[in-house]
Amino acid sequence: MISTPALVAPSAGAPFEARTVEHRDLRDDDVLIDIKFAGICHSDIHQVREEWGGAIFPMVPGHEIAGVVSAVGDGVTRYKVGDRVGVGCMVDSCGECEYCKDGEEQFCAKGAVMTYNGRGYDDEATKGGYAQQVVVSERFAVRIPEGIDLDVAAPLLCAGITTYNPLKRWGAGPGKKVAVVGLGGLGHMGVKFAAALGAEVTVLSRTLGKQEDARAFGASDHRATADEQTFEDLKGSFDLILNTVSANLPVDAYLSLLKPLGALVNVGAPSDPDTFAAFSLIGGSKVMAGSNIGGIAQTQEMLDFAAEHGIGASIETISADEVDAAYERVVAGDVRYRFVIDTATINPQS
Ligand code: NAP
Ligand code: ZN
Repeated sequence: MISTPALVAPSAGAPFEARTVEHRDLRDDDVLIDIKFAGICHSDIHQVREEWGGAIFPMVPGHEIAGVVSAVGDGVTRYKVGDRVGVGCMVDSCGECEYCKDGEEQFCAKGAVMTYNGRGYDDEATKGGYAQQVVVSERFAVRIPEGIDLDVAAPLLCAGITTYNPLKRWGAGPGKKVAVVGLGGLGHMGVKFAAALGAEVTVLSRTLGKQEDARAFGASDHRATADEQTFEDLKGSFDLILNTVSANLPVDAYLSLLKPLGALVNVGAPSDPDTFAAFSLIGGSKVMAGSNIGGIAQTQEMLDFAAEHGIGASIETISADEVDAAYERVVAGDVRYRFVIDTATINPQS
């Protein structure tokens, strides 16, 4: 077994503890990654606090992993020691079903294995990126281009792909008006990617407090959703609205901001159900959709696109003993715009 320092959530909502955890010895197709940075996704908080139900404890969260390959299994062909790599939300899938063959491993018919809070096909609980090492099949590692530093690359592995995928699918580009709801980890990546794809981007945030940042990320407009006038002014304005909010929203109000045939795509994953009126969609033949991360090939495409356009996450780097406080700040909407853990600071002796 491979032992590595990690941050462990012992039970739902309990503070993190630095402990040593074990990973399997390398299989033929495995790479061992020395993790340098791990992003804090709001999904980590939902799961550590068991807001989505059925969580597995003790839990080592983290699915925004950036590091360097430090050992390879005998059959590994894609990577060598020293390569800069990332791991996102998945670490295994069947590889044989129609979705895996299409590069949409997140929809694997056997069930993709999640990076943490999941079970591998060997029934072992998976352990994620708040650690100094991780073992994954080379099929689930992606190459981090030289042009992106590892700290600002880490959040791309979830926040990046989760916003890039629906923007591509729903045609964000020149001539399209895109609104991004919520300027947090996902939202700020959504703004950067939508702008780089050529769309005209508006941020819909609760207040005007982040408007300078929104413009720096590429938005041409920023409106406060706490102001009812915003919904009057922007009625029928957008081809696409990307909702990244971690809480429930008044869906009908947001649907009213779409042009006819427009789409409201939800990536935010609140624990309570949303409700909306059928006629909010029927009137303009509008679409309401969801979107779940993205496949491995597209994750690589997203990283290459990010490098080409000089896009990384905007981050605040923290040490291991600051993670509990960072969770509180994320929940309070006080994140600018992703916390990234410097994993070298995880010390089980402390
Ligand atoms: P985050 O950094 O906390 O950002 C969420 C943003 O939503 C906040 O910054 C805030 O923006 C806004 N917000 C928060 N609470 C709100 C409320 N009560 N009402 C209105 N707006 C509120 O979270 P994240 O890491 O970007 O994740 C966002 C959501 O996406 C989470 O639910 C997460 O689990 C989910 N997620 C889904 C996928 C997927 O595959 N679909 C992948 C990753 C994450 P403003 O201050 O600008 O209003
Ligand atoms: Zn995530």
